[in-house]
Amino acid sequence: MTKIFCVANQKGGVGKTTTTVNLAAGLAKLDQRVLLVDLDPQGNATMGAGINKAKLTCSIYEVLLGMSDVKTARVRSEAGKFDVLPANRELAGAEVEMVELENRDKRLRDALKEVSADYDFILIDCPPALSMLTLNGLCAAHGVIIPMQCEYYALEGLSDLSNTIKKVAVNLNPDLKIVGLLRVMFDPRMTLSQQVSDQLEQHFGDKVFATVIPRNVRLAEAPSYGMPGVVFDPSSKGAQAYIAFGAEMLERIKLLDAK
Ligand code: ATP
Ligand code: MG
Repeated sequence: MTKIFCVANQKGGVGKTTTTVNLAAGLAKLDQRVLLVDLDPQGNATMGAGINKAKLTCSIYEVLLGMSDVKTARVRSEAGKFDVLPANRELAGAEVEMVELENRDKRLRDALKEVSADYDFILIDCPPALSMLTLNGLCAAHGVIIPMQCEYYALEGLSDLSNTIKKVAVNLNPDLKIVGLLRVMFDPRMTLSQQVSDQLEQHFGDKVFATVIPRNVRLAEAPSYGMPGVVFDPSSKGAQAYIAFGAEMLERIKLLDAK
């Protein structure tokens, strides 16, 4: 069955897009069929997958408003070997325009039904807000992956996010679970990083992924070449970590399915 995961954290700049793009490419390397959904008007995941957001003829905006469908709007990331439902600034308008529409929180879920059989994984990159767009992501997903930086303020906001996820699970999408917390931009030279990382493990146990993504400049450079980091420099520490994370996800899903 297709697994649909949201990568969400309402904090800005915590590594959501880097995680979505590199997990998509990492899973593609492991022979998985992947659709990346860019649910952020910044269009960073679209660009990071090597697609020019300024030249889109059709995007997720039209899909959410019912003017097009996913089959028409999706494009191929040749670099990453996965499909992309792309976004650009137009998407910011959808937030307001959707207010008038029926089932406005389930527009993405309904739109994805048509293509879900084409994929093993659908990964949704959420914007840094608990907005109607993020709500659409949470309603469409089976699980949420939460990237976190191991810094002092990381835990702040986590309770808002987990309360939102609980509310969505109770009221809108009973399937929804937190798949796991992913430690990103980890700097082993910083004592604080290690302390926060240990705290996360103590508090959240096996909800914390074993894979830790290090801070690695190659991951930050890759988008300017229109490539996921795991393709741009596969031997870099960051790329290796995201490939390991892809393998961990596959393992975790096998365990979940066996339960
Ligand atoms: P936003 O909330 O704006 O959508 P985001 O949560 O999607 O941001 P990213 O865009 O993935 O975060 O990352 C923020 C910045 O940090 C980017 O410049 C990215 O290249 C850089 N970055 C992300 N992960 C790493 C890493 N492991 N090592 C080094 N730089 C990283
Ligand atoms: Mg982002």
